[in-house]
Amino acid sequence: MDPRQLFADSRMSGFCVYCGGPPDTRDHVPSRVLLDEPFPDNLPIVECCTDCNRAFSLHEEYVACFLSCVISGSTDPEQQPRPKIARILRDSPAIAARIQSTLLPSDSNELVWSPELDRFQTVIVKLARGHIAYELSLPRIEEPISVQMMPIALMPQDSVATFLSDQPTHLWPEIGSRAFIRACKTFDSQSVDSWRVVQPGGYQYLVSQSDGDFVRLLIADYLACEVCWD
Ligand SMILES: [Zn+2]
Repeated sequence: MDPRQLFADSRMSGFCVYCGGPPDTRDHVPSRVLLDEPFPDNLPIVECCTDCNRAFSLHEEYVACFLSCVISGSTDPEQQPRPKIARILRDSPAIAARIQSTLLPSDSNELVWSPELDRFQTVIVKLARGHIAYELSLPRIEEPISVQMMPIALMPQDSVATFLSDQPTHLWPEIGSRAFIRACKTFDSQSVDSWRVVQPGGYQYLVSQSDGDFVRLLIADYLACEVCWD
């Protein structure tokens, strides 16, 4: 039997990792709209409820499309580097129109994309809850103490270096959690405080217990996010 099943899965069973209610389905973290085929093997899977799963999916689609439009500089499906996003924008012109309507002139008269921040925050906290539940076997249903996000290109260079650094481990992960089991495996050099690349250029994350619990995400090599719980 896989020891990760033995310890970590049984502890998390019985909770929707997003709302704490009874789970009746499972969810990939990150959601597949943020990744391209072929999907990586062993995508983390967490338990959740159908209501949460449904509630997030349109927001996740919006976030994936918005990032692609900003990176490509266009809402034109033909300009999207990701075939999946091209297909969504083609099939759902309303999404493209909604994103296009937020391309507004700034004070200096440049055109600037303005994300719907509440939708971004909803998705980022959801992703962070999924990662922390998977890595630490820890439900974090309560609201985080901070949620930050910024295009990495706008961050000062030293902040980028700090953001992307692997964190020193101050504490052993909780016994039995996936992170603990991973730390015990001598053939797996990645600790809980290392970045885990789900798809190069697409999605990577770091979960740390160094100073409170926090999760960092780098989506599309573009958007840097950090969610903290105390
Ligand atoms: Zn739920």
